[in-house]
Amino acid sequence: MTPDSTSDGNGSPDDALIDLTSDHHFMGEALRQAGKAYQAEEVPVGAVIVHGGRIIARAYNQVELLKDATAHAEMLAITQAESALGDWRLNECVLYVTKEPCPMCAGAAVHARLGRVVFGAPDPKAGCAGGVLNLLQFPSFNHRCEVTAGVREAECRQLLRSFFAEQRRRPDEV
Ligand SMILES: [Zn+2]
Repeated sequence: MTPDSTSDGNGSPDDALIDLTSDHHFMGEALRQAGKAYQAEEVPVGAVIVHGGRIIARAYNQVELLKDATAHAEMLAITQAESALGDWRLNECVLYVTKEPCPMCAGAAVHARLGRVVFGAPDPKAGCAGGVLNLLQFPSFNHRCEVTAGVREAECRQLLRSFFAEQRRRPDEV
């Protein structure tokens, strides 16, 4: 196991080389959101939406806090981005999310016409960006998103693994 590299950005030697428009950089911002979910004892998934090289939405999973099964990071981020742009069409936007989107979130991404979806950890059980289904690029839908998989995959997956390992150690939790 490698030490958790997502908890704080305390000056890795690569900092100076970071390209602020890169997928690596924006996934780092999504990881930061996932870390907030972790601290709030939510399944650690984070998302950001980028428009014209600028982050216009940041969110993390809040299902427990809001007691709302639809409060996935991607859903909250999509709503924020639509408000920020004053438009439900997000063709010019890129969604970065730490885990492969579920059916609901992939469906929402298609409805919002997101230009591109970038994810970290694949979800072989429920992933709908190619894992189980590919709803993001479903041939008969009227919109298909570009997909980039596996950006900072190890960090994204590690966060989920530590979270679920910790949950299992708690006898009072279901
Ligand atoms: Zn989802």
